[in-house]
This record gives sequence, structure tokens and C-alpha cells, in this order.
Amino acid sequence: MIKPGTTFVLYIVVLIQVYLFLPWKGIFFIIISLLFLIYLISCSANICSQAYIKTLCKADTNQKKIAITFDDGPDPKITPQVLSILDKYNAKATFFCIGKHIEDNKELLKEIDKKGHIIGNHTWSHDLWFDLFSYKRMQADIEKTNGLIFEIINKKAKLFRPPYGVTNPALKRALKRLNFQTIGWSIRSLDTIKSTEKTLKRIKKGLSTGDIILFHDNREHIVDILESFLEYAKSENYEIVTLDELLNIKAYE
Ligand SMILES: [Zn+2]
Repeated sequence: MIKPGTTFVLYIVVLIQVYLFLPWKGIFFIIISLLFLIYLISCSANICSQAYIKTLCKADTNQKKIAITFDDGPDPKITPQVLSILDKYNAKATFFCIGKHIEDNKELLKEIDKKGHIIGNHTWSHDLWFDLFSYKRMQADIEKTNGLIFEIINKKAKLFRPPYGVTNPALKRALKRLNFQTIGWSIRSLDTIKSTEKTLKRIKKGLSTGDIILFHDNREHIVDILESFLEYAKSENYEIVTLDELLNIKAYE
């Protein structure tokens, strides 16, 4: 994808051309500006666009390995069930936890870590308007979460996943001095909005070596989805590994 800075220069050049050579300048200005706006929105909404932040979304590997990730926990009811299913299949996962949920579930975070899973940062507030925060407010939100993770498991998380998968210039600025590796996904299971059957069908259809799958450990039906998915992955001889192993990166500093 062309970087937003380059596209902005092109946008200005086209506007000048329209102003100098075309009739109905107003209509062309509106159409070109709308196209530019749609482009900017698609850059922000697609976590793997690489428009603002270098994001890892899939591993380049020949080995039959995949990683599963869980966002938005820890949840006192669902996360323990997810952990026991992972144990049953001897699968290791990565949990992108929300700071305010960790605060109420410190023992659960310890357990996730003790079982050999990885913990990543998914902001403190996961606020609906997080994307509109100033970069300083974003920074404070992310650092507060890392502070609590460190306090509980004595490890400095290095993996970060933006809320709703949205990236923008403010987040780029916020992350600049924080030394995080931003993680996206190659398969979005849509487990929060689709039925168990539809979610499974969607994942199986697109599954291939090196994939990073996005799940959520705060919804009831993830328990059924996960068990069926792990059974399928086993039958297809996929090895489920943590993100640091799949991507050959460090999960903690
Ligand atoms: Zn989330």
C-alpha cells in the first residue's frame, strides 16, 4: 500500500491540476477529497496495511505452525475454560489483555503466564474512542497496562495489539519510544458476531501455514469454537505455538 504521506502529495498535485485545467472544479474537488478520505480510513481500519505502523500479521515459514491469540480478557468466567481446553490439546497461545480487566483478575494473569502462554498489551481502557485520544493519552494508557503486567508477572510485555485493530498517526507517535512490536492477524475469526458454525467455517476455509488467528476470551461460545478448532488443527497436523516462536521475535524485554 502507498504510504499516506506520498498519497497526500499526489492528492495535492491532482487538486492543482484540476484547478488549472478542468471545468466544474468544485465537483472534482469533492470527488477527489472523498476518495482521499476513503483511502485514509482504509489505511487506519486495516491493521495489516502497514500505512502507519509496522505490523506483523503472518509468519513466513515452511513449518506447519500457526498461532492463536485471544483479545479483551482476562475474563474470570471464560478465560479459565479457555486455559483448560488449551491444556487438553497441549496448545500454547498469546493473550492480549486489557489493563482494567487485569486489575480485577491478577491471579488469572499469573496462571496464564505460569501455563506457558504469552501475555501482550491491549491498552488499559480499550476505550471506544481510543483512536481519537492524543498520543500522550494513548502512551499513558499503554504504559499503565505494562506497569501492571510487570507488577504481576515480573515481565515487561513487548507485544502490542491496538484496540479494534485501528492504527493512525497518533498511535504511531505514541508507540515510537515504547519499543513495542505491533501484532495484527491473518485470520479474523469474527467470533464476537458470528455463530459457532459460521466462525469455524470461516477459519477452516482460510487456514494456512504461518497464520495468526484472532479470537476473544470474553465470549461464551469461544469455548465450543476453540475445542472444535483445536480438534480440526490436530487432524490437519498443525502445531499451535506462541507468537514469539511463530514469528521468531521476543515477547518480553
Ligand atoms: Zn480488543
